[in-house]
Amino acid sequence: MLLSILVCGSLAASAQNTDSLFLRKIYDEALVNGQPYQNLEYLCKKIGPRLSGSANAQKAVDWTKKLMGQYGFDRVFLQEVTVPHWVRGEKEQAKIVFGKQQIAVPVVALGGSIGTEKTGLTASVIEVQGLQELKSLGENAIKGKIVFYNRPFDPRFIETGSAYGAASDQRFRGPAEAAKYGAVGVIVRSMTEILDDYPHTGATAYEEGGNKIPAAAISTKGANLLSSTLKQQKEVKFYLKQNCETLPDVLSYNVVGELKGTENPNEFITVGGHLDSWDLAEGANDDGTGVMQSVEVLRIFKALGYRPKHSIRAVMFMNEENGHKGGLKYAELAQKNNEKHLAAIESDEGGFTPRGFSFSDVKPEFLQAINKNWKPLLEPYEVDRLVKGGAGTDIEPLKASIPNITLIGFRPDSQRYFDLHHPAKDVFENVNKRELELGAASIAALIYLIDQHGLSFQ
Ligand SMILES: [Zn+2]
Repeated sequence: MLLSILVCGSLAASAQNTDSLFLRKIYDEALVNGQPYQNLEYLCKKIGPRLSGSANAQKAVDWTKKLMGQYGFDRVFLQEVTVPHWVRGEKEQAKIVFGKQQIAVPVVALGGSIGTEKTGLTASVIEVQGLQELKSLGENAIKGKIVFYNRPFDPRFIETGSAYGAASDQRFRGPAEAAKYGAVGVIVRSMTEILDDYPHTGATAYEEGGNKIPAAAISTKGANLLSSTLKQQKEVKFYLKQNCETLPDVLSYNVVGELKGTENPNEFITVGGHLDSWDLAEGANDDGTGVMQSVEVLRIFKALGYRPKHSIRAVMFMNEENGHKGGLKYAELAQKNNEKHLAAIESDEGGFTPRGFSFSDVKPEFLQAINKNWKPLLEPYEVDRLVKGGAGTDIEPLKASIPNITLIGFRPDSQRYFDLHHPAKDVFENVNKRELELGAASIAALIYLIDQHGLSFQ
């Protein structure tokens, strides 16, 4: 009895030792020979903004396919995805107008918005704190006006993603809701806590058959100015001119690289980010870092000569920003091809210092077991925060189509992400090389543990 406990104990200890030695190798490879930073530089500087349907999005597809081919992954292939094609057109113009004064303010059209008349749109403004207030004011107060949604990020949230989640209904559904009450346009405070002059774009969704009205985001400083002007002046109008439009759908692609599993080749572990970005910037942190980390995970395994038991895929999803078509297609094909999937991990919260991972829809016993078994292995790398939480937009559809899959979100430090989420300053210069590499190594470490031990913890 005592002997068997000792034997089991030492077996478990030696497995832990093998794991901890291999994790060290992963981090060494990432930090000494890592390539995500130089790859990200190419994606940002040689290709640049890559909104779905654009010529640059196609360039990014071609280049990432070539890159993974050059790394010698076992299989590199494309999945056809039909995506929306929205174009911004000329630079937007906006002014606060009162008395004889006109003050220009920075705005950008929301993705999916219609344009204004060629001469622009001028109307009175009504400020609201959200959809609830819009509803309580009703058509009498709203009709013929521009609705100004100005509820800021709640700074009390520690994870900034929660503040985004609590504010973003104003952008995503605000215009469609305001149109129901006869509004002629919508201005939304940018979805960020930082106070500056950069407006942040992002998707808005009209309702099928509903009225469409032009919608734009205003910088946080512009929003504060508009709000204070509304309080101080009697007759305040807002002028908005934008000529964005939606063109016919375009054929595009998810790009997939694969290392074949030696024991269970038809059982997959997916790691991914989204290849498309908004059009205003290089899409460095959103989500160039995620796609380049995903490629790097496979590169690390290959460089270390690691032959995974399960097939491991790096997926560059297309169209996360304004349609989610790539994620939907990946899940559809996984189901159609009868693939088994252990887990899917998404990196789409920036390339910042890794902190841990969040596991979607898991039971408390799962979290207890994973913390007991794996936290000690991840602690030396400061990426041991293993919690329940969201996973990622691109992998979310797998939940409905693949039984028993575990969906996981990579969780870097969140404090700076929304400074850079969708404005013109989401550029390569705002990514830190070591943070990016540590993130790739952390994801590789988790995938190695899943590949070796599964996620059932029996
Ligand atoms: Zn993103």
